[in-house]
Parts: sequence; structure tokens; C-alpha cells
Amino acid sequence: MDIGYRSCELCPRRCGADRTRGELGWCRCGDELRLAFGGLHFGEEPPLSEPGGSGTLFFSGCPLGCPTCQNIQISSRRDSLGKGISEKELADLCLDLQNRGAENINLVTGTHYIPSLAAVLHDAKQRGLEIPIVWNSSGYERPEALELIHSLIDIYLVDLKTLNFETAGRFCGHPMYPEAAEDTLRWVISHTPADYHNGRLVKGVILRHLLFPHELASTREVLRWFSLNGGDALLSLMQQFIDPLGVLKADWEAEGDLLDMLDEFGIQKGFIQELGDDELWMPDFNRLNPFPETFCKPVWNWNG
Ligand code: SF4
Repeated sequence: MDIGYRSCELCPRRCGADRTRGELGWCRCGDELRLAFGGLHFGEEPPLSEPGGSGTLFFSGCPLGCPTCQNIQISSRRDSLGKGISEKELADLCLDLQNRGAENINLVTGTHYIPSLAAVLHDAKQRGLEIPIVWNSSGYERPEALELIHSLIDIYLVDLKTLNFETAGRFCGHPMYPEAAEDTLRWVISHTPADYHNGRLVKGVILRHLLFPHELASTREVLRWFSLNGGDALLSLMQQFIDPLGVLKADWEAEGDLLDMLDEFGIQKGFIQELGDDELWMPDFNRLNPFPETFCKPVWNWNG
């Protein structure tokens, strides 16, 4: 199977747009890479951020397009913020981040650019890029497309937002999300055994789950799935739900129940994000540094 920008089937929507001829598929992305922000990020899971920061690259556009995305300024199908960047420039940026002490290169939502990112990573590695590569995604992927880039990826940081169709329809805008995400997680877990160097994760999978407000039953399903299928993957629980529309409020009361569920399923290894001020977590990609100063050092910005 030929998976690329011609008759695009890179994500589970498989909409078949010929992006090489200027057609825009469901995601409204062409065949030119668009980047919104690059910098050293200190707010990812500790093994990815400490001590030098994660060399994080936020791409524009998203094939899933959750209406509740905290990065909606850059992920939206309409007027997503970002700027075209050549493969050579992006490889240079990866090397620049490495020179600035980045612990890894963290590709955030690159699914719709897989062929270009494979070329970028090949080039950057040939020119000396040695730090681990992190694939940071919604889980809305196709293993057939991930095969194009798998040999270049060290750590998968992949969401499992929900396994419930109704919850997925409401929060992810797509009831079929669970099916795709489950396939993706099964594939990355079976293809990426964990490896540690001096106690530090250098290869493997971190499954991320963000609690949706008043959806503890959905979270319970995810935790049960992880306890049965997670293998040597780590679990990262996040609680910073922010609804850009301001309609839904996070359920801060859930923490006690959550700890009980972790006990119930015998899940001991992983991370749980501390609760904090909502505003702290909401990036603004119109600013040169979209994040709080202590969280991020900007290196590249679409409007910089
Ligand atoms: S990545 Fe975009 S163009 Fe390609 S199949 Fe998915 S939605 Fe369509």
C-alpha cells in the first residue's frame, strides 16, 4: 500500500485527498509542513522534561479536531495558527533544540505530516541528531501510516481519551475515535518495548489519559483496558481539562475516586498530574511564548 500525500490515507478518515495537487482533505492541510511553535518545554512528564526540557514542536492542523482541544488555536480546521516551514528548516530546528540542551524532540500531532517528518528526521539524524524522538499524538492514527516513521521514533506519548463511543462523540467530535485509538495503542505497545538507560526511559510507550468532567466511568474503562493491555507502558493521568467554549467545568472532586481506581486495577507505575490553576494550562499561541515562563523557553514561533 502506498501511503503518502497523493490520495491521502494517513489518518483513519482516509479521505483520499490529493494533497500534492493542492486538494485539502478533511484536516484542511496541504503537503507543506506548517508549524505553530517550537521550544524547550518543562511541563511534560518528568522523564521527558527533566532536566533540559523537551524540544517540543507543535504542528498546525489535526485530523481528529476535538472541539474541546486546549490547543484549538492551532488544531482547528479553520484558520489554524501556523506558518509553512521547509523540511531543511525543520531539521535545522531539531538540531538547534538539541544544541540548547533539549532532552528529546517531541513531535506534537504530526500524523497528517508523517512523510515529511520521516524525511526531516532522516536528514537531522544524518547531521548529528542523537536525542530520542517522541511521537506525541491523540491516538487517532493508522498503524499502516506509523510504519513509515516507526524506525525513527523512540518514545510514543499517545492519548487514550476514551473507549466510550458516546463520550468520544461529545468530547472528541468523532464517535469512532475509540476504535482507532485502541488499534493504535495495541500496535505501538507491541512494537515498542520499554528500555531504560541509567533509570531513564529511552524507548517505550507512555499512555496519556485526560479526565473529562463527570466522566469517571469512561476513565474507569480506560484504566481497566490499560491494566489488561498496557504491557510495560507507563500511564500518565492528566486532569487539566479546559473547555475553550467555557461550557464544561473540570471535576476536581474526582481525585480520590481516581486513586481508588488505580489501586483496584493494580496500576503502580506512571504519573499523575497535580491539580492547578486552569489558566496555567491554557496556552495562547498568539503570544511569543504561549506558555507560562517557568514552563517553556520559546525558540521558534509562527509569528516571531
Ligand atoms: S491526514 Fe488529512 S487529508 Fe489525510 S486522510 Fe486524514 S484528514 Fe484526510
